Amino acid sequence: MKKEIVLSGMRPTGELHLGNYFGALKRWAGIQSDHECYWMVADLHSLTTLESTADIEKKTIEMTALWLAAGLDPKKSSVFLQSAIPEHGELASIFATLLPVSMLELNPTYKEMTEAHPRSGSFGLLNYPVLQAADILLYKATRVPVGRDQEPHIEITREIARRFNNRFGEFFAEPHALFEKIPKIYSLKDPTKKMSKSHSPDSYIGLLDDADTVREKIMGAVTDSGNEIVYDPESKPALAHLIELLHLASGQAVEAIEKEYKSAGYANFKKAVAESISGLLSPIQERFRSYKPADVKGVLAEGTAKARTVAQKNLGDIKEKIGLLNLK
Ligand code: ADP
Repeated sequence: MKKEIVLSGMRPTGELHLGNYFGALKRWAGIQSDHECYWMVADLHSLTTLESTADIEKKTIEMTALWLAAGLDPKKSSVFLQSAIPEHGELASIFATLLPVSMLELNPTYKEMTEAHPRSGSFGLLNYPVLQAADILLYKATRVPVGRDQEPHIEITREIARRFNNRFGEFFAEPHALFEKIPKIYSLKDPTKKMSKSHSPDSYIGLLDDADTVREKIMGAVTDSGNEIVYDPESKPALAHLIELLHLASGQAVEAIEKEYKSAGYANFKKAVAESISGLLSPIQERFRSYKPADVKGVLAEGTAKARTVAQKNLGDIKEKIGLLNLK
């Protein structure tokens, strides 16, 4: 049976954190054996918000090395560089003819990004979901593991697929987000906000944080009033989140954690959370340090060549479907 095609990506804009690990990488690594997976370093997308591109090359290598260290296997998946496959831009320009600008202006992510970023107002930011639709549909991916915040973009991808099919004849299957069971990781300083690299460094655990830094950040995490360690997301959301982190990092069930730490006190409990997170991160960091930049570049080059073969074939079929003259 043909494996389902999956595509997802991240922009190489900064340090990866536990949210990226539990919300994306761990999940990606878990599905790569029974799906045809494309993991994209979305460097073109990062141009929409980056103030400076001075270290984008370094960040690209570092993020890819972390992906590999976290378990993405280039033998099972295609790990590739978006900017090295020109077919993404070509398909985006075809898709750009299918949607009215007003639909893109209504995209809630566009509104948020325009408020938050100095490069706001650029056509690239407005066009972001169109390029994203091209990223996904170029590989005919039908599953897109992304956070719920990305749902409006996936809806735009579906709309583009529908409009293409209506205009040129049935071609694309509508892709769907794949976010069942994906945990959301929250800020250590505010349990109502998601953990994010755009907030202060003490609010997130970076995947490269050493054990002392992890301990310091967890000890400084906000908690709720009371002495007992009980899981109550409604009235003690900050504590519940730390319990969830311990559960995710150690695999220990929430009930077992409550039982073990009920009367241990916050300090001892937080120490256990920190140790468990460091225990998870230290082999990832060790693998990360073992990769030389040239090896990572080699992995990306190979994955990109593999993905490009598919991209070229599919774009050829798309052009044929539209009826464009083929000069070959
Ligand atoms: P991008 O790199 O596209 O800007 P992000 O850096 O926000 O996206 O996130 C990359 C991936 O990590 C996405 O799949 C996103 O859903 C996931 N992710 C980011 N932060 C969190 C979080 N706090 N909890 C769970 N998943 C997260």
